Amino acid sequence: MSETLEGERQPLPMKGVPQPTRKEVLKLPRVHISTHPVMQHKMTALRDKNTPPPAFYRLVKEIGALLAYEATAELRLEAEQIETPLQPMKGQRLAGGIGITPILRAGLGLAEGFREVISEAQVWHLGLRRDERTLQAEEYYNRLPRKVDLQVAYAVDPMLATGGSAIDAINMLKTRDIPHLSYVCILAAPYGLLRLTQTHPDIDIYVAALDESLNDLGYILPGLGDAGDRQFGTF
Ligand code: URA
Repeated sequence: MSETLEGERQPLPMKGVPQPTRKEVLKLPRVHISTHPVMQHKMTALRDKNTPPPAFYRLVKEIGALLAYEATAELRLEAEQIETPLQPMKGQRLAGGIGITPILRAGLGLAEGFREVISEAQVWHLGLRRDERTLQAEEYYNRLPRKVDLQVAYAVDPMLATGGSAIDAINMLKTRDIPHLSYVCILAAPYGLLRLTQTHPDIDIYVAALDESLNDLGYILPGLGDAGDRQFGTF
């Protein structure tokens, strides 16, 4: 246990837990880490502790749009005959719908960024809360529809820390019979990334940046702090 400034005792769920290094997880299959210079630029502003909540939320949306662009690069297309104002032509449309599952509440800004790129995507909210003592994810809200007809669903959450909520979200999406599932986050810790790929080796994972480790409380280092509090100003 550690003490907060107010003298509250805090559990240290990651204390003494062995963690893989960044180098050990850098080349995991189906993990896509962004190398785009605009992403690096926005990430620096996002991490800066002096960035206030309105700017932080805007950056999360912008990074969400960049991640959506990267994560949709392999989507299937189908031919469609159309007419331009000048002549007929064969165009292409996305073959099948797209679902976005923001993990509440921190995933909301990322989902908004995705919607700027794919406005017709369905949004399925999923509320998972992590128990600060055990770091286990608990479901408190679930609007995943029963009937789905999609080519892909993206679970989005800014922070892949211990991997608990990511694993649970993908478990839930796997009950919906969707041909392709992906997980999208802004920052990943090696520990959570390894757990997620080991539990779900059949999904793609898109990450804006891979960080060094988790601290004893389960926060990502160097990180950006609490992604929910920083988006919504709840300090
Ligand atoms: N969740 C956050 O918001 N930040 C972290 O560093 C880890 C989990």
